[in-house]
Amino acid sequence: MPKIGITTTVPLEIILAAGYAPVDLNNLFMSRDSLHLVHQAEIQGFPRNLCAWIKGIYSVALQEGISQMVAVTQGDCSNTQALIEMLSLEGVRVIPFAYPYDRDEELLRLQMERFLKSLGCSWESALAMKERLDAIRLKVHRIDRMTWDEGVVSGFENHYYQVSCSDMQGDPESFEAQVDQFLDEICTRERMPEKIRLGFIGVPPIFTDLYSLVESLEGRIVFNEVQRQFSMPACGQGEDLVEQYRRYTYPYDVFARIADIREQLAVRRIDGLIHYVQSFCFHRLEDLIVRKSINLPVLTLEGDNPGRIDARTRIRIESFLQVLKERKGA
Ligand code: SF4
Repeated sequence: MPKIGITTTVPLEIILAAGYAPVDLNNLFMSRDSLHLVHQAEIQGFPRNLCAWIKGIYSVALQEGISQMVAVTQGDCSNTQALIEMLSLEGVRVIPFAYPYDRDEELLRLQMERFLKSLGCSWESALAMKERLDAIRLKVHRIDRMTWDEGVVSGFENHYYQVSCSDMQGDPESFEAQVDQFLDEICTRERMPEKIRLGFIGVPPIFTDLYSLVESLEGRIVFNEVQRQFSMPACGQGEDLVEQYRRYTYPYDVFARIADIREQLAVRRIDGLIHYVQSFCFHRLEDLIVRKSINLPVLTLEGDNPGRIDARTRIRIESFLQVLKERKGA
């Protein structure tokens, strides 16, 4: 199947129903030699003070030979437009899509209709694909529940399966087989030890060892906020495609995200939050809103280039967990 690159979650149903394989370039970037990809973009002239994800996406799109991409011009990233323009100079076809900031149903429907038209797909086939994908998403929701409720899934595994829902790894059938195999495996696992239950909010981490570090310090991440949104946690309730993407919190204002986070913190009995922010990202400002809106200890971590956690950040995580343990008497 021909590939279509994406930089954030977009109506996947339309891409797949139109006969294309979606490729989430964020996931691809992290699965390759990511630091090298960032440096390659810098050699091409991308500035040092630009988010590393943007540089990685640019390089990996070229490395992968991506010839068409969805450009989310509203509801993703303030840097996307320039990134897409750079890629269009390299001959990449650009398919625009925008999430209306106020979640307006009519505007979102219009965007989807344009998207359907540009890929030559019908509503009927996109809705049939939604049914197929929802069945896989419900299995991933089970993995999520087995993370926070039954305690048999690690924070990284939770991250991995949910983040993969953004593109179903380009092949829903083989992704579902992987999910099924994992569900079989975790049925026989013992509950993992934990003294502290953490939530992780913000864009997925560029650090490669955050989850294992937290677990080595007797903590466990039992809530991955944005990754969970990629799995469409409110799907499968008879909603249509437009409503599904209206319920998805990430591309709109921060307040719906905060409401979702608050609800999950209570349900999952979370002791503290890690708010991850990426250097040079506009989401950095949301940290102020998070701190004003959430009544739990929050550790803000900032990452720049992909790789292992640096010594200073490690000490901050250790201290945070120590404080939470003392607070909890654990
Ligand atoms: S981390 Fe922020 S700046 Fe970087 S790609 Fe994501 S939204 Fe854009």
